Amino acid sequence: MRATVIHAPYDVRVEQRDDPRLLAPTDAIVRVELACVCGSDLWTYRGLNPIERPVAMGHEYVGTVEEVGADVRTVRPGQLVVGSFFASDNTCPICRAGYQTSCVHREPVRGAQAELLRVPLADGTLVATPERPDADLLPGLLTASDVLGTGWFGARAAEAGPGKAVVVVGDGAVGLLAVLAAAQLGAEQVIAMSRHAPRQELAHAFGATAVVAERGEEGVERVRELTDGLGAHSVVEAVGTQDSMTQALGAVRPGGHVGVVGLPHGVDLPAVDMFYRHVHWSGGPAPVRQYLPELVELVLERRIDPARVFDLELSLDDAAEGYAAMDERRAIKSLLRP
Ligand SMILES: [Zn+2]
Repeated sequence: MRATVIHAPYDVRVEQRDDPRLLAPTDAIVRVELACVCGSDLWTYRGLNPIERPVAMGHEYVGTVEEVGADVRTVRPGQLVVGSFFASDNTCPICRAGYQTSCVHREPVRGAQAELLRVPLADGTLVATPERPDADLLPGLLTASDVLGTGWFGARAAEAGPGKAVVVVGDGAVGLLAVLAAAQLGAEQVIAMSRHAPRQELAHAFGATAVVAERGEEGVERVRELTDGLGAHSVVEAVGTQDSMTQALGAVRPGGHVGVVGLPHGVDLPAVDMFYRHVHWSGGPAPVRQYLPELVELVLERRIDPARVFDLELSLDDAAEGYAAMDERRAIKSLLRP
């Protein structure tokens, strides 16, 4: 099969690899219909995560089940499935509490930018659609695999909801879909922080009521002006740098909630300031599996259109261009067709 492999920073290749095989009776093999490049793949692409040996890339997927192990019960060959970027049993106490990405049996799902993918713990990881959906719905279902689910979790962790003012820091696909999530969850105000015109437009299309282009102290000041001088009830941090975290903590009101979905890279938290301001801070790798049934339904019923984050569509063979375009911010998110 063809698969996307990173050899070194800025060196992404599509090459022939052995087809994946069932390794455990709980595995499934999925023929990938659509994959994509994630903002988190760019940490590796830019050399910020060490690359010790060539690594198969990709963790977002929608596809058709080809084969299942003897113990798989809930999905069968021929079904269209979406799954999370971490495999989980969905039955242990941690999963049942809603934290499937910390499942006691969790395993990363990697190598999705390829023709075929092995998914461990298929019963707990994959969600099948009731019937084969129209082809135009597949990109939306693909977003549920990570960026939509992650944005959703960020909004939930920030306690977005009716009567709340929600700020989203970060205008990548996750941030934009956190805007969509906050609007869907009924937030009264949704304030997107973005300086890029096409992303500002998409934020508005997803339900933002205001856009703040300023950053730093000025950005915080603008948020306070929009929120009776108090700051937002809810802030989603969808970047993971010190600057974005400082922005998020500055924008939240005393007693407010910060939902963190940007993987922190070199971030220090001001514990004393957070203590005195009663800031609730929570997040982590999104337990996308918790939200998959709900999100798949919203997409299938065409009540949301998260696929608008894909502004570049390529053949899998051109995966390297998909990475370069996102790295250079020429694209928000690259869709790959195997
Ligand atoms: Zn579990």
